[in-house]
Amino acid sequence: MDPVIQEIAELLDGGHADVRAKVREELVARAAFLSDVDDLSRDEYRERVRDLLLDMAPTGLSGLGFPKEYGGGGDIGASIAAFETLAMGDLSVLVKSGVQFGLFGGAILHLGTKRHHDAYLADVVSGELLGCFAMTEHGHGSNVAELGTTATYDPATDEIVVTTSAPDAYKDYIGNAAAHGEMAVVFANLVVGAERHGVHAVVVPIRVDGQPAPGVRIADDGPKMGLNGVDNGRLWFDGVRVPRANLLNRFADITDEGRYESSIENPNRRFFTMLGTLVQGRVSVGGAGITATKSALTIATRYADRRRQFGAEEGNEMLLLDYGQHQRRLIPRIARTYALHFAQEMLREQLHEVFSAPPESVETQTRRELESRAAGTKALATWHATSTIQECREACGGAGYLAENRFAALKADTDVFATFEGDNTVLLQLVAKGLLTDFASEFEDLDQLGMVRFVAGLAVDTVLERTSAHKLLERVRDLLPGGDSWDQEAEIRDPEYHLAMLRFREEHMLGGVARRLKRGVDGGDDAAAVFSMVQDHVIGAARAHVERLVLEAFTGRVGGMPPGAARDLLAQVCTLHALAEIERDRAWFMEHGRLTIQRSKAISREVGALCRELRASAVGLVEAFSVPRELLRAEDLIG
Ligand SMILES: Cc1cc2nc3c(=O)[nH]c(=O)nc-3n(C[C@H](O)[C@H](O)[C@H](O)COP(=O)(O)OP(=O)(O)OC[C@H]3O[C@@H](n4cnc5c(N)ncnc54)[C@H](O)[C@@H]3O)c2cc1C
Repeated sequence: MDPVIQEIAELLDGGHADVRAKVREELVARAAFLSDVDDLSRDEYRERVRDLLLDMAPTGLSGLGFPKEYGGGGDIGASIAAFETLAMGDLSVLVKSGVQFGLFGGAILHLGTKRHHDAYLADVVSGELLGCFAMTEHGHGSNVAELGTTATYDPATDEIVVTTSAPDAYKDYIGNAAAHGEMAVVFANLVVGAERHGVHAVVVPIRVDGQPAPGVRIADDGPKMGLNGVDNGRLWFDGVRVPRANLLNRFADITDEGRYESSIENPNRRFFTMLGTLVQGRVSVGGAGITATKSALTIATRYADRRRQFGAEEGNEMLLLDYGQHQRRLIPRIARTYALHFAQEMLREQLHEVFSAPPESVETQTRRELESRAAGTKALATWHATSTIQECREACGGAGYLAENRFAALKADTDVFATFEGDNTVLLQLVAKGLLTDFASEFEDLDQLGMVRFVAGLAVDTVLERTSAHKLLERVRDLLPGGDSWDQEAEIRDPEYHLAMLRFREEHMLGGVARRLKRGVDGGDDAAAVFSMVQDHVIGAARAHVERLVLEAFTGRVGGMPPGAARDLLAQVCTLHALAEIERDRAWFMEHGRLTIQRSKAISREVGALCRELRASAVGLVEAFSVPRELLRAEDLIG
């Protein structure tokens, strides 16, 4: 490998290079699985995925996030890096691992206490006990607070009775449920005495000796668009009784006297605190989406550097990658993948810090910011994966359609990344809520409508003050030449100019949402109608915020590199990412007076110029993603 590309590859692997190398090695040793699955029936595929998961468990790589005393590695950052790298292989194996170790094991770890850890974690880590994370119901997915399953405490027997209490309250899409799971962490509304206490988690056995446990009904979700090696299923609970001790009681418990108690008084806050501990899943899925994108780009870029079509002279056809349009299709996406990689790296580090510190030492605001960053990065990364994998498939023409060239699986399996672990659109609303309330802990118990009333009432001035563009512009004037016309005078490749543009957009959009909410409520509309009416602005503001964070992560990382060819190359990639993002939203910038027609055209020209400049480095840039050749398959395309 070229030394500059080698340096970039090492930078991408970062602090967890050893873990990533080990995962790659294990995957390469099992690379034949990627082609085997083309010919397997659904049942065979599921069995092979389970076998592979159990085969990988002794490597210690899947349990890295669990405490050492239960056979884990005690390193959350490393566990996310391992999961990200696992996404280079078969994605059913990845998702089944995510369900088993991240969701099922993670819920026991974060929502349970020592008695649950002692009872289950060692067996979870070894794969001895396979389990499910049963949150979603047919009737309610995104709106977890409205789940219909109930968990009612029965003081007569000191048990909890779990019931599917409405026709659409059965658990649906649950990974590991249809064939292999023996136990489930079931999310249900807890009822103690006559009182409902909101959603809590209870450990419920669902299979005994391979058969549904008494009172549990199980159905298969059947064939899916992708991930057919994962056994997703439906669960009904007909008054299933479990001991009181099965309540995962880190944040709330039922006392020996049969009373409900919780260290967090406010039910809304308790709910968000519980869900917040599960943020790791979101971070994992976003990271996996970025990895799948890297595989697709590696295949398509390398193919474009070999495949010839048409040409100026007969007998001398041109390489696809020498066509301007092909460069335009692939190179800005490579740049955006780098940007998201560094945003994900920052997120992984924050997650590691927050979850490795004693819980009481972490400020609520810090946790909320992490949750917001996780939600936003997951949304942008998984949307980027879906659109880029499609573009790469097309960029490989008919060959891209063959299963042996990987796009069939990549496309089908990553599609749902935009939906599970939080629907992307819903996640961006969470991001916006945090921004509008400034992540303040006293506001975290506000639901969406409470947030509308809050922003429209008391705090609109605060939001406007905080997001006021004039302060930003003062800062910009210090950094960029041109006074009020900084956006026309600044050098087009100046990173400060790019950041100023993205910051301006974010602050302007956020202020706009606050003003619209206020106007709507002041005009007498009810909060729900107002929120619905401004929702596109809400999503736009959240997206603008996350785009700014992504660009800051990239520029920050490049700025921290030692001077040299690797830094120069990544600086160019970063510039392309920034200008392509401004170009993508040029209509908005023009509407808001931040882009003249001339400047807008100049930016498009610059994006084209950068694509041409980076053409020679494109293959190196995807090589630096370090997806092992054996895992790319696509031998004909890669050469
Ligand atoms: C393959 C697969 C595996 C899964 N594995 C699991 C698992 O192991 N455990 C588990 O608990 N769950 C699992 N799920 C469920 C998954 O988490 C949910 O499907 C997801 O949370 C979305 O919920 P939903 O399907 O009810 O969609 P809905 O919430 O009904 O959303 C449908 C659409 O409506 C939009 N929408 C919803 N609310 C709003 C709003 N307020 N404003 C504007 N638009 C809105 C959304 O953007 C979305 O486009 C899995 C799903 C799949 C497909």
